[in-house]
Amino acid sequence: MVKIPKEQRRYCPTCDEHTDQTVKEATNQSASPWSKKHRKRQRKIDNGYGSFPFEDPSHLARGKSNPTSSKHDLQFSCKECGKSWKPRNQPRAAKFEIER
Ligand SMILES: [Zn+2]
Repeated sequence: MVKIPKEQRRYCPTCDEHTDQTVKEATNQSASPWSKKHRKRQRKIDNGYGSFPFEDPSHLARGKSNPTSSKHDLQFSCKECGKSWKPRNQPRAAKFEIER
């Protein structure tokens, strides 16, 4: 179980200093169908090359144990400038909770 506090004092890329920020999980945002990642995936599906893309996560981890955890899409928003940003490395955990 990974618990992170809802309010944190973190580095803000816009303000270029440490400010008070709130965390939320950006779960309801749908992926853009025009992103480069999506277009590449659709091209692979249309062409039908090999066994890509792997829909089954157990197929993705060939020779390894099956992944039980998933990455969480966190979004930090700065209280001073009001802008939000996403960290480059999102946490990976099976159970995840944002504390109040
Ligand atoms: Zn800021």
